[in-house]
Amino acid sequence: MNSYTIDEAGYAINARLITSPNFDARPDHEICLIVIHNISLPPSQYGGNGIIELFTNQLNPAEHPYYAEIYTRKVSSHFLIRRNGELIQFVSCLNRAWHAGVSNWQDRERCNDFSVGIELEGSDFDAFEPTQYQTLKTLITNLCSKYPIQAIVGHSDIAPVRKTDPGPYFDWQRISTQINSLPSTNKT
Ligand SMILES: [Zn+2]
Repeated sequence: MNSYTIDEAGYAINARLITSPNFDARPDHEICLIVIHNISLPPSQYGGNGIIELFTNQLNPAEHPYYAEIYTRKVSSHFLIRRNGELIQFVSCLNRAWHAGVSNWQDRERCNDFSVGIELEGSDFDAFEPTQYQTLKTLITNLCSKYPIQAIVGHSDIAPVRKTDPGPYFDWQRISTQINSLPSTNKT
């Protein structure tokens, strides 16, 4: 079991680091929210390099019709958990990754400013793998011990009109221990 302790520079020890250029500084250094997403490229296909290519601005528009729609998007997340449980980090937690878009949490807009984004390789139509939950739980525990996390939400909770992820197959019960250990009452 990997530890995924978060170091002083905002990186999870033992994560595979693939640097994304799609980030900037957090406006006031605050980190209080975890946002859970799902992503797969091409949609509902697993195991390829599409997600990594998207987050590093290397998606080839000729490779798939959907890629032609999205390849110019400048997006990223701090973390990606692949189907085999592998943890990949793209952006330091100390910086602002571009995962949430137009969003609102407790009357606060621009959730990227103060959140950590975690993508699970998956879709709204498939169950996630047990090993993905294992990695997610360990990562969340480490994030909560490093930063004053107040809540763990889904992308659909903070952008309900636009977004459906992490979707109906995401089992919140699997991270209930992590959610119940949060200090505030701001629970999902
Ligand atoms: Zn999302």
